[in-house]
Amino acid sequence: MSLTALFKTKTVFSLEVFPPKKSSPTDAILPTLKRLQSINPDFISVTLGAGGTEHCDGTVEIANIIQNKLNIPAISHVPGLYQTKSEVLALLDRLDSINVKNILALRGDKIPGKEPAGDFNHANELVQFVHEQRPDFSIASACYPNCHTEAPDFVDDITHLKEKVDAGADHLISQLFFDNQAFYDFKEKTEIAGIHVPIEAGIMPCTNKNQIERITQISGVPIPKKFAAIMDRYQNSEEAMLDAGIAFAVDQIIDLVSQGVDGIHLYTMNKSKIAKRIWDETKSVFAAADLAKQTANQ
Ligand code: FAD
Repeated sequence: MSLTALFKTKTVFSLEVFPPKKSSPTDAILPTLKRLQSINPDFISVTLGAGGTEHCDGTVEIANIIQNKLNIPAISHVPGLYQTKSEVLALLDRLDSINVKNILALRGDKIPGKEPAGDFNHANELVQFVHEQRPDFSIASACYPNCHTEAPDFVDDITHLKEKVDAGADHLISQLFFDNQAFYDFKEKTEIAGIHVPIEAGIMPCTNKNQIERITQISGVPIPKKFAAIMDRYQNSEEAMLDAGIAFAVDQIIDLVSQGVDGIHLYTMNKSKIAKRIWDETKSVFAAADLAKQTANQ
Protein backbone atom coordinates (compact mmCIF):
# COMPACT_ATOMS: atom_id res chain seq x y z
CA MET A 1 0.00 0.00 0.00
CA SER A 2 1.34 3.48 -0.84
CA LEU A 3 2.03 5.83 2.07
CA THR A 4 -0.65 8.19 0.82
CA ALA A 5 -3.23 5.40 0.86
CA LEU A 6 -2.10 4.37 4.35
CA PHE A 7 -3.24 7.68 5.85
CA LYS A 8 -6.81 6.88 4.78
CA THR A 9 -6.83 3.69 6.84
CA LYS A 10 -5.00 4.60 10.05
CA THR A 11 -3.21 7.15 12.20
CA VAL A 12 0.32 6.81 10.86
CA PHE A 13 3.18 6.38 13.34
CA SER A 14 6.60 7.06 11.82
CA LEU A 15 10.12 7.49 13.11
CA GLU A 16 13.12 9.56 12.08
CA VAL A 17 16.76 8.51 12.43
CA PHE A 18 20.05 10.02 11.37
CA PRO A 19 23.00 8.08 9.89
CA PRO A 20 26.04 7.47 12.10
CA LYS A 21 28.94 9.93 11.76
CA LYS A 22 31.32 9.16 8.88
CA SER A 23 33.94 8.09 11.44
CA SER A 24 31.63 5.32 12.79
CA PRO A 25 30.80 2.13 10.89
CA THR A 26 27.25 1.91 9.49
CA ASP A 27 26.71 -1.23 11.57
CA ALA A 28 26.89 0.93 14.71
CA ILE A 29 23.25 1.84 14.21
CA LEU A 30 22.01 -1.76 13.73
CA PRO A 31 21.01 -2.45 17.38
CA THR A 32 19.08 0.86 17.38
CA LEU A 33 17.28 -0.04 14.16
CA LYS A 34 16.47 -3.54 15.45
CA ARG A 35 14.85 -2.05 18.55
CA LEU A 36 12.91 0.42 16.40
CA GLN A 37 11.76 -2.49 14.21
CA SER A 38 10.02 -4.00 17.24
CA ILE A 39 7.72 -0.93 17.27
CA ASN A 40 6.60 -1.86 13.74
CA PRO A 41 6.39 1.78 12.55
CA ASP A 42 4.64 2.68 9.30
CA PHE A 43 7.88 4.11 7.94
CA ILE A 44 11.28 5.31 9.07
CA SER A 45 12.81 8.41 7.52
CA VAL A 46 16.56 8.99 7.32
CA THR A 47 18.03 12.49 7.47
CA LEU A 48 20.62 13.74 4.98
CA GLY A 49 23.12 16.48 5.87
CA ALA A 50 22.38 19.80 4.21
CA GLY A 51 25.66 19.62 2.23
CA GLY A 52 23.98 17.09 -0.07
CA THR A 53 26.11 14.69 -2.12
CA GLU A 54 28.95 14.44 0.39
CA HIS A 55 26.51 12.93 2.95
CA CYS A 56 24.49 10.68 0.65
CA ASP A 57 26.29 7.36 1.27
CA GLY A 58 25.29 7.02 4.94
CA THR A 59 21.67 7.93 4.24
CA VAL A 60 21.37 5.50 1.31
CA GLU A 61 23.00 2.69 3.33
CA ILE A 62 20.67 3.16 6.30
CA ALA A 63 17.62 3.48 4.04
CA ASN A 64 18.67 0.21 2.37
CA ILE A 65 18.86 -1.60 5.73
CA ILE A 66 15.45 -0.24 6.79
CA GLN A 67 13.73 -1.04 3.49
CA ASN A 68 15.34 -4.35 2.60
CA LYS A 69 16.60 -5.95 5.81
CA LEU A 70 13.97 -4.76 8.29
CA ASN A 71 11.19 -4.68 5.66
CA ILE A 72 9.94 -1.30 6.86
CA PRO A 73 9.19 1.41 4.26
CA ALA A 74 12.05 3.94 4.24
CA ILE A 75 11.93 7.62 3.33
CA SER A 76 15.16 9.34 2.36
CA HIS A 77 15.43 13.05 3.15
CA VAL A 78 16.71 15.02 0.13
CA PRO A 79 17.86 18.59 0.77
CA GLY A 80 18.18 20.45 -2.55
CA LEU A 81 19.99 23.72 -1.83
CA TYR A 82 23.53 22.44 -2.39
CA GLN A 83 22.72 19.82 -5.04
CA THR A 84 22.49 20.20 -8.80
CA LYS A 85 19.70 18.63 -10.85
CA SER A 86 22.00 15.86 -12.05
CA GLU A 87 23.15 15.12 -8.49
CA VAL A 88 19.54 14.83 -7.36
CA LEU A 89 18.75 12.52 -10.29
CA ALA A 90 21.78 10.35 -9.41
CA LEU A 91 20.57 10.13 -5.79
CA LEU A 92 17.05 9.18 -6.94
CA ASP A 93 18.56 6.44 -9.13
CA ARG A 94 20.50 5.09 -6.15
CA LEU A 95 17.34 5.09 -4.05
CA ASP A 96 15.36 3.46 -6.85
CA SER A 97 17.99 0.70 -7.11
CA ILE A 98 17.32 -0.24 -3.47
CA ASN A 99 13.55 0.03 -3.97
CA VAL A 100 13.17 3.24 -1.95
CA LYS A 101 10.70 5.45 -3.79
CA ASN A 102 9.75 7.77 -0.94
CA ILE A 103 11.55 11.04 -0.28
CA LEU A 104 11.20 14.06 1.98
CA ALA A 105 12.02 16.96 -0.35
CA LEU A 106 13.64 19.84 1.53
CA ARG A 107 15.49 23.01 0.83
CA GLY A 108 17.94 22.07 3.58
CA ASP A 109 19.57 24.08 6.30
CA LYS A 110 21.74 26.93 5.07
CA ILE A 111 25.48 26.42 5.61
CA PRO A 112 27.20 29.74 6.40
CA GLY A 113 29.73 30.65 3.71
CA LYS A 114 28.72 27.83 1.33
CA GLU A 115 27.43 28.83 -2.11
CA PRO A 116 24.12 27.14 -3.09
CA ALA A 117 24.25 25.02 -6.25
CA GLY A 118 21.54 27.28 -7.73
CA ASP A 119 19.15 24.65 -9.12
CA PHE A 120 16.84 24.43 -6.09
CA ASN A 121 16.57 27.59 -4.02
CA HIS A 122 13.35 26.47 -2.35
CA ALA A 123 11.79 23.10 -1.66
CA ASN A 124 8.88 23.69 -4.08
CA GLU A 125 11.35 23.72 -7.00
CA LEU A 126 12.74 20.35 -5.88
CA VAL A 127 9.25 18.90 -5.39
CA GLN A 128 8.27 19.99 -8.89
CA PHE A 129 11.47 18.60 -10.42
CA VAL A 130 11.13 15.19 -8.73
CA HIS A 131 7.41 15.05 -9.52
CA GLU A 132 8.13 15.67 -13.21
CA GLN A 133 11.24 13.50 -13.51
CA ARG A 134 10.14 10.59 -11.31
CA PRO A 135 6.34 10.47 -11.11
CA ASP A 136 6.65 7.02 -9.50
CA PHE A 137 8.18 8.59 -6.36
CA SER A 138 6.08 9.65 -3.38
CA ILE A 139 7.11 13.08 -2.11
CA ALA A 140 6.74 14.45 1.42
CA SER A 141 7.59 18.04 2.42
CA ALA A 142 8.25 19.91 5.66
CA CYS A 143 5.88 22.35 7.40
CA TYR A 144 6.14 24.60 10.45
CA PRO A 145 3.35 24.90 13.07
CA ASN A 146 5.25 27.79 14.70
CA CYS A 147 6.08 29.40 11.30
CA HIS A 148 9.48 28.98 9.61
CA THR A 149 12.12 31.26 11.13
CA GLU A 150 12.88 33.01 7.82
CA ALA A 151 9.24 33.69 6.89
CA PRO A 152 8.06 37.29 7.42
CA ASP A 153 4.67 35.99 8.62
CA PHE A 154 2.34 32.98 8.57
CA VAL A 155 0.49 34.16 5.46
CA ASP A 156 3.75 34.12 3.48
CA ASP A 157 4.85 30.76 4.94
CA ILE A 158 1.53 29.04 4.24
CA THR A 159 1.42 30.51 0.71
CA HIS A 160 4.76 28.84 0.01
CA LEU A 161 3.60 25.65 1.71
CA LYS A 162 0.67 25.55 -0.69
CA GLU A 163 3.14 25.91 -3.59
CA LYS A 164 4.92 22.77 -2.39
CA VAL A 165 1.67 20.83 -2.24
CA ASP A 166 0.55 22.14 -5.65
CA ALA A 167 3.96 21.12 -7.05
CA GLY A 168 3.35 17.51 -6.02
CA ALA A 169 4.00 16.98 -2.30
CA ASP A 170 1.54 14.35 -1.20
CA HIS A 171 2.11 14.49 2.52
CA LEU A 172 3.62 16.93 5.04
CA ILE A 173 5.74 16.31 8.13
CA SER A 174 5.83 19.06 10.70
CA GLN A 175 8.71 20.61 12.57
CA LEU A 176 8.73 19.65 16.25
CA PHE A 177 6.52 21.69 18.57
CA PHE A 178 5.67 21.55 22.29
CA ASP A 179 2.31 23.31 22.31
CA ASN A 180 -0.43 21.31 20.59
CA GLN A 181 -2.60 24.41 20.25
CA ALA A 182 0.02 25.82 17.85
CA PHE A 183 -0.44 22.71 15.70
CA TYR A 184 -4.25 22.96 15.76
CA ASP A 185 -4.14 26.66 14.81
CA PHE A 186 -1.69 25.85 12.03
CA LYS A 187 -3.89 23.01 10.75
CA GLU A 188 -6.83 25.42 10.54
CA LYS A 189 -4.69 27.88 8.52
CA THR A 190 -3.70 25.12 6.07
CA GLU A 191 -7.33 24.12 5.58
CA ILE A 192 -8.32 27.73 4.87
CA ALA A 193 -5.45 27.86 2.36
CA GLY A 194 -6.80 24.77 0.58
CA ILE A 195 -4.08 22.37 1.70
CA HIS A 196 -5.73 18.98 2.02
CA VAL A 197 -2.86 16.47 2.12
CA PRO A 198 -2.17 14.49 5.33
CA ILE A 199 -0.06 16.36 7.90
CA GLU A 200 2.00 14.41 10.41
CA ALA A 201 2.77 16.09 13.72
CA GLY A 202 6.49 16.09 14.58
CA ILE A 203 7.13 15.16 18.20
CA MET A 204 10.53 15.24 19.86
CA PRO A 205 10.86 13.62 23.27
CA CYS A 206 12.94 15.99 25.36
CA THR A 207 15.14 14.23 27.82
CA ASN A 208 18.16 16.52 27.86
CA LYS A 209 18.00 20.25 28.66
CA ASN A 210 21.09 21.31 26.67
CA GLN A 211 20.02 19.42 23.59
CA ILE A 212 16.55 20.98 23.64
CA GLU A 213 17.88 24.49 24.16
CA ARG A 214 20.17 24.02 21.15
CA ILE A 215 17.41 22.61 18.94
CA THR A 216 14.83 25.23 19.88
CA GLN A 217 17.38 27.99 19.32
CA ILE A 218 18.08 26.75 15.78
CA SER A 219 14.44 26.03 14.92
CA GLY A 220 12.92 29.04 16.69
CA VAL A 221 10.32 26.77 18.33
CA PRO A 222 9.04 28.32 21.58
CA ILE A 223 9.25 26.35 24.83
CA PRO A 224 5.96 26.60 26.77
CA LYS A 225 6.09 27.42 30.49
CA LYS A 226 4.93 23.92 31.43
CA PHE A 227 7.88 22.36 29.63
CA ALA A 228 10.39 24.99 30.81
CA ALA A 229 9.41 24.12 34.39
CA ILE A 230 10.15 20.44 33.77
CA MET A 231 13.59 21.25 32.37
CA ASP A 232 14.43 23.64 35.21
CA ARG A 233 13.30 21.31 37.96
CA TYR A 234 14.75 18.04 36.68
CA GLN A 235 17.83 19.08 34.72
CA ASN A 236 20.15 17.63 37.33
CA SER A 237 18.44 14.26 37.50
CA GLU A 238 18.90 12.20 34.37
CA GLU A 239 16.22 9.73 35.47
CA ALA A 240 13.60 12.36 36.34
CA MET A 241 14.30 14.30 33.12
CA LEU A 242 13.85 11.09 31.15
CA ASP A 243 10.57 10.18 32.85
CA ALA A 244 9.16 13.72 32.65
CA GLY A 245 10.29 14.22 29.02
CA ILE A 246 8.68 10.95 27.96
CA ALA A 247 5.48 11.74 29.88
CA PHE A 248 5.29 15.15 28.17
CA ALA A 249 5.66 13.58 24.70
CA VAL A 250 3.11 10.85 25.54
CA ASP A 251 0.67 13.52 26.71
CA GLN A 252 1.13 15.49 23.46
CA ILE A 253 0.64 12.35 21.34
CA ILE A 254 -2.49 11.16 23.16
CA ASP A 255 -4.07 14.59 22.76
CA LEU A 256 -3.16 14.78 19.05
CA VAL A 257 -4.44 11.27 18.28
CA SER A 258 -7.66 12.02 20.19
CA GLN A 259 -8.13 15.15 18.03
CA GLY A 260 -7.81 13.04 14.86
CA VAL A 261 -4.27 13.90 13.73
CA ASP A 262 -3.23 12.20 10.45
CA GLY A 263 -0.01 10.87 11.92
CA ILE A 264 2.77 11.24 14.46
CA HIS A 265 6.39 11.53 13.32
CA LEU A 266 8.72 10.84 16.22
CA TYR A 267 12.14 12.48 16.08
CA THR A 268 13.92 9.57 17.80
CA MET A 269 17.39 11.19 17.91
CA ASN A 270 18.46 7.51 17.50
CA LYS A 271 17.35 6.83 21.10
CA SER A 272 15.42 3.65 20.44
CA LYS A 273 14.67 2.81 24.08
CA ILE A 274 12.88 6.14 24.50
CA ALA A 275 10.95 5.62 21.26
CA LYS A 276 9.94 2.14 22.43
CA ARG A 277 8.71 3.46 25.80
CA ILE A 278 6.64 6.12 24.06
CA TRP A 279 5.15 3.56 21.69
CA ASP A 280 4.33 1.16 24.54
CA GLU A 281 2.50 3.95 26.37
CA THR A 282 0.49 5.12 23.35
CA LYS A 283 -0.08 2.06 21.15
CA SER A 284 -3.53 1.32 22.64
CA VAL A 285 -4.62 4.86 21.74
CA PHE A 286 -3.46 4.40 18.12
CA ALA A 287 -5.26 1.04 17.94
CA ALA A 288 -8.52 2.48 19.25
CA ALA A 289 -8.31 5.49 16.90
CA ASP A 290 -7.67 3.16 13.94
CA LEU A 291 -10.66 1.04 14.83
CA ALA A 292 -12.86 4.15 14.99
CA LYS A 293 -11.50 5.31 11.59
CA GLN A 294 -12.12 1.91 9.97
CA THR A 295 -15.66 1.74 11.35
CA ALA A 296 -16.36 5.27 10.06
CA ASN A 297 -15.01 4.29 6.59
CA GLN A 298 -17.34 1.25 6.30
P1 FAD B 1 11.33 25.82 2.01
O1 FAD B 1 10.01 25.18 1.78
O2 FAD B 1 12.10 26.25 0.82
O3 FAD B 1 11.07 27.05 2.99
C1 FAD B 1 12.16 27.80 3.55
C2 FAD B 1 11.72 29.25 3.76
O4 FAD B 1 11.55 29.89 2.48
C3 FAD B 1 10.39 29.42 4.48
O5 FAD B 1 10.46 30.59 5.24
C4 FAD B 1 9.38 29.57 3.35
O6 FAD B 1 8.25 30.34 3.75
C5 FAD B 1 10.19 30.30 2.29
N1 FAD B 1 9.86 29.90 0.92
C6 FAD B 1 9.48 28.67 0.50
N2 FAD B 1 9.31 28.66 -0.82
C7 FAD B 1 9.60 29.91 -1.27
C8 FAD B 1 9.62 30.52 -2.55
N3 FAD B 1 9.31 29.82 -3.64
N4 FAD B 1 9.97 31.82 -2.64
C9 FAD B 1 10.30 32.54 -1.52
N5 FAD B 1 10.28 32.01 -0.27
C10 FAD B 1 9.94 30.71 -0.15
N6 FAD B 1 17.47 19.77 6.86
C11 FAD B 1 18.49 19.08 6.31
O7 FAD B 1 19.46 19.68 5.86
N7 FAD B 1 18.48 17.71 6.26
C12 FAD B 1 17.44 16.98 6.71
O8 FAD B 1 17.47 15.74 6.65
C13 FAD B 1 16.32 17.68 7.28
N8 FAD B 1 15.23 17.03 7.71
C14 FAD B 1 14.11 17.74 8.12
C15 FAD B 1 12.94 17.04 8.45
C16 FAD B 1 11.80 17.74 8.84
C17 FAD B 1 10.53 16.96 9.16
C18 FAD B 1 11.83 19.16 8.95
C19 FAD B 1 10.61 19.92 9.41
C20 FAD B 1 13.00 19.85 8.65
C21 FAD B 1 14.14 19.15 8.22
N9 FAD B 1 15.32 19.81 7.85
C22 FAD B 1 16.39 19.11 7.34
C23 FAD B 1 15.44 21.25 8.06
C24 FAD B 1 15.00 22.07 6.82
O9 FAD B 1 15.91 21.85 5.77
C25 FAD B 1 15.00 23.54 7.26
O10 FAD B 1 13.94 23.76 8.14
C26 FAD B 1 15.05 24.57 6.15
O11 FAD B 1 15.36 25.82 6.76
C27 FAD B 1 13.77 24.73 5.37
O12 FAD B 1 13.49 23.65 4.59
P2 FAD B 1 12.12 23.58 3.74
O13 FAD B 1 12.20 22.37 2.91
O14 FAD B 1 10.95 23.73 4.62
O15 FAD B 1 12.31 24.89 2.85
